[in-house]
Amino acid sequence: MNRNLFLPGLKDVKINKVESCEHSIHLYVEMPVKPHRYPRCGTEGRNIHDYRIQKIRQFKWFERPTVIFYRKRRYACQTCGKRFAEENPFVERYQRFSKEWNPAVNVRSIHAKTFKDLPFSSGPRFRR
Ligand SMILES: [Zn+2]
Repeated sequence: MNRNLFLPGLKDVKINKVESCEHSIHLYVEMPVKPHRYPRCGTEGRNIHDYRIQKIRQFKWFERPTVIFYRKRRYACQTCGKRFAEENPFVERYQRFSKEWNPAVNVRSIHAKTFKDLPFSSGPRFRR
């Protein structure tokens, strides 16, 4: 799926897939590939090493409990071989701002533009 949908406050995060279950939404997300400056030697590159799925705790999105599966990418330096996780505003942000940051509120403003495009299979219904 090539459609890009952005999470409020996390506009660089790419949503690859949305699953709608009976009681919750599962979001499969990743960061776009971009050049990283390798910490050890300062070389810049985008040589992908591997991916790990990281499950991020629930929050509310479209007013439903939501679980994020973050496909966390690791890069490897071609020069020195050092591996490291990509930059992600993501996990830290959710942990740090979880109390005051309420995505459900922000999402309402983009609801009309984006919701109808979501690939929900089970056709969730929302109050208007
Ligand atoms: Zn290096």
